[in-house]
Formats: sequence, C-alpha cells, structure tokens
Amino acid sequence: MLVFRLRNIREIAHPAVFAIPAILESILRFTTQLWHEKLRNHLPGILVNAAAIAAFAVIVRHSTVQWVAGWTMTGLLWCVLRVLVHRACQRWATRHPDGAAPGAQQVLLAGGLLGSAALWALAACLGLPAFSVSEQFTVLVVLAALAGGATGTLASMPIIGKIYIGILLAPSCAQLLLLPDEKMNVLGLIGLVFAVVMMNSQNNNFRLLRTTLALTSDKEELIRQLSEKNQQILQVNDGLEQTVAARTAQLEFLANHDPLTGLLNRRGFMSYPFAHRHTGRHKTIIFIDLDHFKDINDGMGHAFGDLLLRAVSDRLQEVMAELALTTSAADPAVCRWGGDEFVVCLTRPAGQPGASAAEYQRMHARLSSPFQLGEHKLPVGMSMGIFERAGNAAFDLHQALMFADIATADAKKLGRGRLSFYSERSYELQQRRLRLTLALAHAHQDGSLHLLFQPIVAAHDGAVVAYEALLRWTHPELGAVGPDEFIPLAENANTILSIGRWVLEQACQLAQGWPAGADATAPPKVAVNTSIRQLIQPDFADLVGATLAHSGLAPAQLIIEVTETVLDERNMASALDTLTAVHALGVEIHLDDFGTGYSSLSRLRQLPLDAIKIDRSFVMHMDEKSVAVIEAAVLIADRYGLRVIAEGVETAQQLAILRTKGIDELQGYYFGRPAALPLQSAQAA
Ligand code: C2E
Ligand code: CA
Ligand code: CA
Repeated sequence: MLVFRLRNIREIAHPAVFAIPAILESILRFTTQLWHEKLRNHLPGILVNAAAIAAFAVIVRHSTVQWVAGWTMTGLLWCVLRVLVHRACQRWATRHPDGAAPGAQQVLLAGGLLGSAALWALAACLGLPAFSVSEQFTVLVVLAALAGGATGTLASMPIIGKIYIGILLAPSCAQLLLLPDEKMNVLGLIGLVFAVVMMNSQNNNFRLLRTTLALTSDKEELIRQLSEKNQQILQVNDGLEQTVAARTAQLEFLANHDPLTGLLNRRGFMSYPFAHRHTGRHKTIIFIDLDHFKDINDGMGHAFGDLLLRAVSDRLQEVMAELALTTSAADPAVCRWGGDEFVVCLTRPAGQPGASAAEYQRMHARLSSPFQLGEHKLPVGMSMGIFERAGNAAFDLHQALMFADIATADAKKLGRGRLSFYSERSYELQQRRLRLTLALAHAHQDGSLHLLFQPIVAAHDGAVVAYEALLRWTHPELGAVGPDEFIPLAENANTILSIGRWVLEQACQLAQGWPAGADATAPPKVAVNTSIRQLIQPDFADLVGATLAHSGLAPAQLIIEVTETVLDERNMASALDTLTAVHALGVEIHLDDFGTGYSSLSRLRQLPLDAIKIDRSFVMHMDEKSVAVIEAAVLIADRYGLRVIAEGVETAQQLAILRTKGIDELQGYYFGRPAALPLQSAQAA
C-alpha cells in the first residue's frame, strides 16, 4: 500500500521537487564553508583592530579631547570580548566540522564586529571637529584602511561586511561634510564615493569567494566520487580474485581426483608429495586389483560395476585409515589407479614398526569380505601386492609402484584373492620374464627353437601309434628354457601365433617322412599342442589345411591337441567353429590335460573330439581320487565314443593299473622320453 502511494506521488510531483534535498544539502554545505571562512579571518581582523586602536591612541595622545583614554580602554576591552567569543565559536566549530554555526554565535560574531565599527564611528564623529589637521588625517587613514581591509577579510559576510564598511565610513563622511572647511567637505564626498566602491569591492570578493567555495566543493565531490569508484573497483577486483582462486582450486581438484570415487587419480597420486614431504619416513605402497571385475561389469552392467567401485573405494579408505592408525602412519594417500586397480601409500616415522604380516592379512580379509549392494551380496576377491621401503633408503615412486605391481602379479599367479609381499626374487623373475618375452618375439626365426618327439603307444600291443611334438627353446644367453615357463609368456604376448605356426610346419614336415610300421601299418601320427589363442583365430583351419598341403602330410596323420580352455564359454563358440573345420579336414582332435580344468561334460559333447588325454598328474599319483578321475574319464569316453590316452606313465606299476582301466593308448617316460629322433625311439619301443 505504502509502495503504491509512493509510486503515485512520484508520478504526479514536479521533477524539481526531487531536487529539493540536493539543493538544501548544497546550501547547508555552503553556509558551513562560509562559517569556517568567517572564523578563519575573524581573529586577524580583531588583532588589526586592536593594533589600530593602540596606534590611534598613541597618535592623538596630545590632543585636547578628554575621552581618548576612555575610548581606547573601551575599544581594547571590546577586542578582548570579541576574542573570547571567537574562541568559543572556534571550539564549537572544531567539535562540529560539518555543521553551520547556530544563529546566536553568528549574531555574537556580527555584533562584535559592528560594535568595533561603531566605536570607530564614535571616535570619528567626536574627534574630527576637535582634532588637529594631522590627527584628522590619521583618523581618516585608519578608517580608510580598516574599510579597505574589510573588503577582503569580510568577504564571507556579504551583508554584515557592507554594514561594517557603512558604519565605519558614513558617520565620519557626514561629519566631514558638516565641517566648515571646504576641503574637508570634498574629502567627505570622496569618502562617500570610497565607501560605495569598497562595498562594491566587498561584494565582488564575496562572489569570488562563493565561486571558489563552489569549485572546492565540486573538487571534493569529484575526489569523493573517484575514491568511491576506486573502492568499488577494488571490491570487484577482490571478488574476481576470489572467484578465480576458487575456480583454480576446483580445476586442480578435478585434475587430480577420480570423478567416480573422489579418490586421487593417477595424476594426483603421482604428484602427491611423498618423496619430498616425507623424506626419512618409512613408506608402504599397496597395489590392489579386483579379481574378475570384468565379469561383474559384463554380467551385471556398468552402472552396477560403478556402484561396486564406489563401495570398494569407501571401504578402502576406511580400512586404510585404521591401518594407518595402528602403525602411526600419516593420512594414507588412496588412489584409483584406473579401472579396477587401486593404490595406497602409507608413510610412517622411520623408527615406528609397520603392520605385521598378520595385520596385513586381517586388512586384506576385511577388504575382501562380501559387499552388500542392494539385494546382492557380492564376494569380491582382491589380489594385493605390498612393497615397503625403509626411511633411509632412496625412494623412487615409479619404481615403488612397479615393485608393488610385481607383488600383485605374484598374488594373481598364486591363485588371486590373496596378498603378496614384494621380494628381490619376484623382481628377478619379473626381469627374466621380460627378457624372455622380448626374445620370444623372434624365436621362430633365429633358430633357437626345436622340437622333441615323445612316443604314444597302443595299450594292447605297445606299438607306437603317434609322437607328441614338444617344443624346446634355447635362449641365447639364458640357455634352455622349459615350455611350462615360456609358453604362457608367448601366450600373453601373442607371439604364440607365430611360434605355433612354426611348430605346426616343422611337425608336419618331419612327420611326412616317417615310414610305415613293420607290418605295413600306417606310419605314426604326429600330435601338435595348440594354444587356445591359435584356435580362436578365424583362419586357423585354413592354416592347418595349407600346412598339410604344403608338407604333403596326410590329414589323418595329424593330431591337434587342445586343452580344456576350449570349453570356457568365452572361447567356446569360436573354438568350436575352428575345431569343426579342422576336424572336417580329417585331422584328429584330442583333449589334453583332461581333469585339470573346465570339465563341463555337456560342452565336451559338442566338440568334435577323437580322444581325451588324462592329465599326467592323475597317472603319476594314482591315489584313490586320481583313480576315480581316470575311471570317470574312461566312462565318459565310452559314452561319447572317444579313445582314452594316459600320459605320464613312468612305472610298470602305473602301467599295470592303467591296463585294468580300459585305457587305449599310453605315453610317458616308461615308453620313451621326448627325443630328437622319434623313429629310433619308435623302433626301440
Ligand atoms: P603337455 O602337452 O601335457 O605335454 C606333456 C608334458 O609331459 C611334456 O612336458 C612331457 O615332457 C611331459 N612328460 C611326458 N611323459 C612324462 C612322464 O612320464 N613323467 C613326467 N614327469 N613328465 C612327462 P614338456 O615337454 O615340458 O611340456 C610341457 C607343456 O608345454 C606341455 O604339456 C604343453 O602344454 C606345453 N607345450 C609343449 N610344447 C608345446 C607347443 O608346441 N605348443 C604349445 N602350445 N604348448 C606346448
Ligand atoms: Ca600335450
Ligand atoms: Ca598333457
């Protein structure tokens, strides 16, 4: 309502109305300035007056008039009173620098001034008719000087100033005009003209002063506005600086942290000041890799995978903070290294003992206890590698991470879901693996590979029905390296493709020259071990066909040995296609190492198999469990119309048991070790 009224008033009022406050303010400012100007000139004016009184008294001391002494005393007393009034006004003005003087003070000041003028007028009126000519001139000169001075010193009092000049000059001029002396009369007239000129000059001085004061005000206003603007700019700058600083901090955080978990990211971790801030402190780097996270991501979707990563990161921070507390370590730096890998760095004072192996185990157990995510209770295995560096030893973060990673790889090799501590031995092994992997890339070309052949005999008559080609490698510096060591490395680096092709070609070429048996039976077959990596190549069957054609070996003379990894559902489809195509060529397919891995019997049936080869571990131990596996293998083989081969036969005793189980073919040191010249071995057998 009030707002509405105000708006109405604004609409109907003349614009000049709104200028009134500003006008009043400028008037107030002007009167204040005038007041200060008056005070500034007031005291000098009084002093000049007192001096003039004293001088006058001295000059006319010998005159015949009687009143001079009284007049002088009165004049000086009046000056003293005026000084007292002036001091009171001055004090008030100091206390109220921004206010004009109250009327009473203005009146007192003006009264004092006019009183002085009146005293001089009295002196002139009484003195002029009685004084000698020189005394008369003295009076006139003093009056003229006082009036002249007033034009300047009283410029701040436009009306009082003129009255002052009038009181000073008018009575004495009138007196001169009344004197019987013609010259004095002329002087009286000139005096009147002088009085008018002085008043005019006083008026001009007032105008000048007014303009000066107005200019001063404008200047002050300008300075005030400028400094206000300056202040505003400073404030804006300040705000800008704060915004920029906040933004920079935000960007810095984003650049160094993982958006999903809020943990440090790789960049943030690498720039974390471990090395310089914690010199002399003991450091522990823990590398954590979630086991089979890809399966969770693929099986339950990426959103669920993200949820799990967040839950892992929360628990990781909690558990690491507890671990830090037990070892007096500093706040742990926890990082999502990427994907499903995490890294933690703990630092503690050099003399402080770290966590014991049992404490680390407990930490690992806590970390890998099942996660409850919605209605899912999810067991998540964690492979963890720990590297410790003493405080006094040089610390290289990159190297420390590599060592922790090596320890993690050890944990994975030992079956995942566990923790491993870094050791010199693991480092040496890792270096060796690296050297071997690099050398394997050209092993098929540099003559360092060769094949040995081990006989496979028929169980019923001991005749050699086949030879298994077993690969050997001699590293130029490290010497003989066993296939159990280098085949997995070649598989990881995919060099198994070129190596496998070399093995196939060599085996086919050599076997092609093998003669038939003594009683014109077919020549022995050659069994070639084949990695799953080769089998999932879409052109593998073509390669086999081309190699057979090139070597001239009959397809029926070739056996491809595959391991149970072909039964893994991730490989099954492509491996099945390849094996079907290879089998269609007339090549036999044997399932190697039976019983060690993915024995999914239903899938076994889908493969175009000719035989299964019971893993040597069952044959060599021949305990109750092993015998059960052997019997089951024979049963399944019977069902699916497959032959059964037992490998790893070393003793007559093993052979005797196997003979009672219905095994078709046998292989092992008992019949012959892998050798370079298979035909000699075949004849010996
Ligand atoms: P595998 O296919 O199971 O080969 C049989 C392994 O058992 C051979 O070891 C052989 O020397 C060994 N063996 C045979 N009879 C006996 C015995 O009576 N007692 C004992 N203790 N061992 C016996 P090797 O030659 O060291 O080969 C190891 C593994 O390397 C092979 O196991 C096979 O998986 C892989 N491998 C060998 N050559 C090749 C190859 O050319 N390609 C592929 N992909 N893998 C190969
Ligand atoms: Ca084999
Ligand atoms: Ca085997």
